Amino acid sequence: MEALLLADARISHIALVHCETTTGMLNPLAQVAALAARLGKTLIVDAMSSFGGIPLDVGQLGIDFLISSANKCIQGVPGFAFVIARRSELEKCAGRSRSLSLDLYAQWRCMEDHAGKWRFTSPTHSVLAFAQALRELDLEGGIAARYARYGENQRRLVAGMRALGFDTLLEDGLHSPIITAFYSPQAENYRFGEFYQRLKRQGFVIYPGKVSHSDCFRIGNIGEVYPQDIDRLLDAVSRAMYWQH
Ligand SMILES: *Cc1c(COP(=O)(O)O)cnc(C)c1O
Repeated sequence: MEALLLADARISHIALVHCETTTGMLNPLAQVAALAARLGKTLIVDAMSSFGGIPLDVGQLGIDFLISSANKCIQGVPGFAFVIARRSELEKCAGRSRSLSLDLYAQWRCMEDHAGKWRFTSPTHSVLAFAQALRELDLEGGIAARYARYGENQRRLVAGMRALGFDTLLEDGLHSPIITAFYSPQAENYRFGEFYQRLKRQGFVIYPGKVSHSDCFRIGNIGEVYPQDIDRLLDAVSRAMYWQH
């Protein structure tokens, strides 16, 4: 990245997906933030699936824009996204948006000038659920406690899946505590759809997930999910392995 940035001075911004949810990879935010600071680049972080579940210090990392939403690690319901922005960078966005509804600057001005008013119909139910979700995050012990629980879930999931014969797409050092990609079994008669239905009938839903040329499926472990739920899932997976029975 450093070589690319040094080779082309026109590159003004760096956009990083913190937790990349197709592979489950946790990208090196601290290193990239340091690079952005050193080379004077504006840093935009997609922290959709990490904010609230992985400790990070927006100010210390010098992040210019951090984007997240109500319905991932904060454990609210879907309905709105939010951006934490450096004010001087946000001010530069005046009149720049090519979209009417996705004009972040206009949304910010409306909230500033009209005592918190949303520009369009307010997502009232989602906002109330978000306030409750923040209380529950506090009750759990804050982000550090949630991070510890997600990490325990993920490690338990990987250990149990490996014991059942599944391999992870990534090596352990690259894993996020949020979602994990596993290779599909190589068995001749394995079909994702059949495996999915057998798990769903037992109360668990997994994601399909092609990564380039690798055939994978993904299992997320955030939300009101505890180690005993992971144990129940592993039991369900062992029952759903019809290609071995
Ligand atoms: C979930 C997710 C999104 C999409 O967020 P929605 O709130 O579902 O629209 C975008 N980027 C990443 C990295 C995500 O995990």
